[in-house]
Amino acid sequence: MLKIYNTLTRKKETLKPIKPKTVTMYSCGPTVYNFAHIGNMRTYIFMDILRRSLKFCGFKIRGVMNITDVGHLLSDADEGEDKMALAARRQQKTPQEIADFYTQVFFEDCKKLNIGSPEVVPKATEHIAEMIAYVEGLIKGGYAYETDDGIYFDIAAFSSYGALSRLDLEEQIAGARVEVNSQKRHPADFALWKKAEPNHIMQWDSPWGRGYPGWHIECSAMAKKYFGKVFDIHTGGVDHIPIHHENEIAQSEALEGCKTVQYWMHGEFMLVDGGKMSKSLGNTYTVKDLQERGYSPLSFRYFCLNAHYRKKLNFTFEGLSAAQTALFRLYVQLFKHKSSAAKTDADVLARYKDEFISAVTDDLNIPLCLGILWTMLKEPFSADIYKTALEFDTILGLNLAEVREAQDETAAPIPDEVITLARQRQAAREAKLWAESDRLREEIAQLGYAVEDGKDGYKLKARN
Ligand code: AMP
Ligand code: ZN
Repeated sequence: MLKIYNTLTRKKETLKPIKPKTVTMYSCGPTVYNFAHIGNMRTYIFMDILRRSLKFCGFKIRGVMNITDVGHLLSDADEGEDKMALAARRQQKTPQEIADFYTQVFFEDCKKLNIGSPEVVPKATEHIAEMIAYVEGLIKGGYAYETDDGIYFDIAAFSSYGALSRLDLEEQIAGARVEVNSQKRHPADFALWKKAEPNHIMQWDSPWGRGYPGWHIECSAMAKKYFGKVFDIHTGGVDHIPIHHENEIAQSEALEGCKTVQYWMHGEFMLVDGGKMSKSLGNTYTVKDLQERGYSPLSFRYFCLNAHYRKKLNFTFEGLSAAQTALFRLYVQLFKHKSSAAKTDADVLARYKDEFISAVTDDLNIPLCLGILWTMLKEPFSADIYKTALEFDTILGLNLAEVREAQDETAAPIPDEVITLARQRQAAREAKLWAESDRLREEIAQLGYAVEDGKDGYKLKARN
């Protein structure tokens, strides 16, 4: 039984999918007009952990994650210049080129962080017809109206608006700083479709003339296309609760006449040095930035796994260094188990497995899972422990199966310190930090070891 926290009910609930063995899951995907920062990646690590946990519990997954390549307006509340258009103008590229470039970088980052791809990854620009049909359905149902500049959702027609965030409309409006548009019936009514000025960079034909979709409609229309009326889990970051997800609920429930999402799950924010991540503060790091400072992407994953997904996580480089050291120590310890010929009692292993499963199924308590793994690794060395750790890694995704340290069988064991330095050097090489890599080679040499690089990775040898 997998228990997950449902933002809608504010309770942990036992997951009961609509179809018993298959979970349908929609995740708000990246807006691809810029590099994803490590805060964004925390939310996708959360999505990945959820997917892995579902599989671990025996469910099949049909996951959908959209790529927002239409761009959306500068604020959630439909104001300002289209972000994609802005990037295209600044970089003198077409919106398509911008979107393709950042989409590719996003998936490269996901790969580095061991974030598995959802089964379907639809692009918003390839689903304009579905969005138009959705808006037409809402107009027909009396939930939307036309103004000079677009089609708006009529919040007054949807009585339960605000149920997810539990904010009343006044608070929502204050939070969103929605500008009053004289033709809108209510300040919080949101755009489903915007009519385009002739020079607007991305626009399509529609029953209301040339225009482009609102952001919120993208997710609802794509979820409908791939799942139909209802699906099981919807994920995103907590910032999406008050406007984006509230609007998705309003649109979809208005159109379908029923509850459309069973469980809403949200990942808490990552802060940097205790504050908000923002371009103006210069603290929006990317995975590449971390690599350029000598951190392996999996050290960042490990850093994230140390905090529960519903807790804020404060990013600092000290914290990341500690995570990297801990992860490399974990590898060292694991390798000692892998190399051992000894056995561990089946009931000891079963106890660790039970504890691990209990932690996972209690709303993904991954920090506790890491604690259990560490305790298990302190047992006397045995290959059984190594194998059990690999089972745990199907959820953790820390590449524990790839742990290998070259040890010359006749030589004395290589000190942990040397192995850790060799891993740091490997991380530096992957980031092409050649000077740092050479410095670490020298440090390893001072301790009496040589590193040899081969196509299967590096080997460590004692220097005679
Ligand atoms: P965006 O591309 O801006 O739509 O964001 C992609 C995902 O990252 C969304 O699910 C956001 O909720 C999430 N997100 C944005 N900023 C942060 C942050 N600082 N920490 C964690 N998640 C974030
Ligand atoms: Zn969305």
